[in-house]
Amino acid sequence: MFYIVQRIYEVSMRCFGVLFIITSLQVISGRIALLVIDVQNCFLPTGSLPVNDGDQVIPVINGIRQQYDNLFSLVVFSQDWHCSDHISFASQHDGKNSYSTTILQYDNTGKLCESTCDVQYNLTQVLWPDHCIKNTTDAEFAVNVTRSNTDVIVKKGYHCKIDSYSAFFDNGGFSQTELDVKLKEKDIKSVIITGLALDYCVFYTAKDAKRLGYNVYVVQDATRGVEEGTTVSAVREMKDQGINIVQSSEMSRVMQQLTSAGILLRYSVYPWYISVIGITHILLYH
Ligand SMILES: [Zn+2]
Repeated sequence: MFYIVQRIYEVSMRCFGVLFIITSLQVISGRIALLVIDVQNCFLPTGSLPVNDGDQVIPVINGIRQQYDNLFSLVVFSQDWHCSDHISFASQHDGKNSYSTTILQYDNTGKLCESTCDVQYNLTQVLWPDHCIKNTTDAEFAVNVTRSNTDVIVKKGYHCKIDSYSAFFDNGGFSQTELDVKLKEKDIKSVIITGLALDYCVFYTAKDAKRLGYNVYVVQDATRGVEEGTTVSAVREMKDQGINIVQSSEMSRVMQQLTSAGILLRYSVYPWYISVIGITHILLYH
């Protein structure tokens, strides 16, 4: 009888080891980052490129942060950071108005064709008011958005001759920011995307994140769009590409899904398992 109980105990110990390894792996594989896209003065209603109700995203983002901060392995703030004569500004194109479009031509190295040049890429560029000029108050993060010393800041749009909606790549895909490397360093598998604007920088960041293999969630009420038509089509395209569009009220479910495999199992199963094994050990060997 003693032998049988001892065998059961030994098998249990091995199961515990296996369970520990599996749940640890699940915790590691479930790492999550919060991406806060371009929540800067320039995109607030009082900024140089105002997004309607852009300031309304701030309490929503702060709420998500307050409630789930300990579950984010990384929080990243992207920052639109332009030269004063940036190519995306309508002021740099004679006779063009803000919100009109133009075609920009690039050679195969990503150099803008300003005179004779071997054109390889034609990019349609929306022309914007001068905005988010680097080292100005306009380009600073909104004062009310919660930030911490451990947050990572990723600047984008700093090449003067090409725009960058995505926080990963410029609009031609010629150059890459450090965002993907930062996420991979922390073994991030899922990204929760918030910020401005839904139909441009959030949209292109989400699409690139999906293409790079991340599990992507866009929190719709933590974003706002520049224009209704492009916002509707951006949401539709993101859904079609398998990007999860959720509301902040659903974050509890989302975070539970993303972490339950590891954390919930660990906290709900381990104490019972450890208690049973501990009691059995005392009964057998003392
Ligand atoms: Zn910009």
